[in-house]
Amino acid sequence: MVRVRFAPSPTGPLHIGGVRTALYNYLFAKKHNGTFILRIEDTDQTRFVEEAEQYIIESLTWLGIEFDEGVHKGGEYEPYRQSERKEMYKAFAEQLLDSGNAYYAFDTSEELDLLRKKAEAEKKAFQYDTHTRLSLNNSLTLSKEEVQHKIELGEPYVIRIKMPENQEINLTDLIRGDVQVNTSTLDDKVLFKSDGMPTYHLANVVDDYLMKITHVIRGEEWLPSAPLHVFLYQCFGWESSMPQFAHLPLLLKPDGNGKLSKRDGDRLGFPVFPLEWISPQSGEKSSGYRESGYFPDAVVNILALLGWNSGLEKEIFSMQELIDAFSLDRISKSGAKFDLDKARWFNHQYLISKSDEELSSQLKPMLEELGIRTSEEKLAKVIALTKERCHFVKDFIPQTIFFFQGPEQYDASVIKKRWSAEIPEILTKISHILNDQTTFDKEVAHDKVMAYIQDHQLNMGQVMNCLRLSIVGEAKGPDLFEIIDFIGPKETALRIEKAIQTIRL
Ligand code: GLU
Repeated sequence: MVRVRFAPSPTGPLHIGGVRTALYNYLFAKKHNGTFILRIEDTDQTRFVEEAEQYIIESLTWLGIEFDEGVHKGGEYEPYRQSERKEMYKAFAEQLLDSGNAYYAFDTSEELDLLRKKAEAEKKAFQYDTHTRLSLNNSLTLSKEEVQHKIELGEPYVIRIKMPENQEINLTDLIRGDVQVNTSTLDDKVLFKSDGMPTYHLANVVDDYLMKITHVIRGEEWLPSAPLHVFLYQCFGWESSMPQFAHLPLLLKPDGNGKLSKRDGDRLGFPVFPLEWISPQSGEKSSGYRESGYFPDAVVNILALLGWNSGLEKEIFSMQELIDAFSLDRISKSGAKFDLDKARWFNHQYLISKSDEELSSQLKPMLEELGIRTSEEKLAKVIALTKERCHFVKDFIPQTIFFFQGPEQYDASVIKKRWSAEIPEILTKISHILNDQTTFDKEVAHDKVMAYIQDHQLNMGQVMNCLRLSIVGEAKGPDLFEIIDFIGPKETALRIEKAIQTIRL
């Protein structure tokens, strides 16, 4: 029975790389009819941000990544918020003290800082480990009575793992293969802090064990911690129920190397968070995929393919298709580069696959904000004419606004290149041709205007560009006769008239 968890620390908005971790866990769980759990790892009180948990839940709900158990769902292994499990961890830390796999350490942070600085001055790095611990202030160097006394006096202490000397720790990562580390290179990490809370390492391993997690699928930044976690399973005697590990490759910035950061997003103009986030401390706003106009199914598709390949000759996958195709062995070892153009391309694919009605219900309120009121039916019609040019629903605004209101301005470069002294007369004539029919027919109107231009040996490109400029304000947009048909010959005449009045050479 597969049981996997997404275990974010609520320290701020969820990074898009974290969303990908959640997605891969979800796909893996669904593929194997397993259980997907949301566990909130909030043992670091100094970095705790209250709004983050809700943000995580809202982000994943928006994307359709659903949990079976978790803080917001409940479940057999409640509670799923580590701060609420606080009391339980102490006993596990004590178990390690009793078996000699952990020890009390009384060194103050000032003392440790001093040691770090001293080592730095000698161009070395200080580590609390097998080499240094016997010269430090801990239960390995103090007598039993001294330790007892300090604890009774209420002196602050931490509990550290006691890494054995010169032992190999082996683990097989499902993505990276065999990993071997010698314990002499590892430090004696703190397991239990002076504030009465466990550290990530202890709480994470204890909870994975108690919650019967079968696979730990998480970001590559946790790979260096994995040997310690394996060692903890050994110390507790839980090897037989140790989960399998899969460390996911990093999400890299689009240009150069290195992890995709918020700064890259700001610099290159794309969000690195699923939803907009306003920092409760500074009020600083960070953009989100949702508010930038990405469709949730497009974001899922984009993320799924950043670090995993299906082996199939296609790129567009629904969630169910992803579940069916997903496997850990097709996850790549190397980092995946985020590609903004590709992300926009995906969104465009999802946009054109949506019905005109669905898009019009999303576009309608945006236009209403600009004071444009129209029926969904009419909107669906202009959407059909312009959707090939749009990547986001908001792109429809510049692409369609001229269907509803005449231009306020005219593109100066088009005027310069195309407008000439004879144009007003020519456009007035065309305006008459268009208004000459009792019932307007766009094909007939088109043929008549073409015939007029040809009969008078006018420059087709120039005239059509100026006509478009009068109606749209620019030299772009869908088929001009479609626009004229939509706005009607009378409105066309008014727009031509206004252009002639406004455009001065
Ligand atoms: N709390 C850790 C994090 O924030 C979880 C890492 C893990 O999945 O073990 O990423």
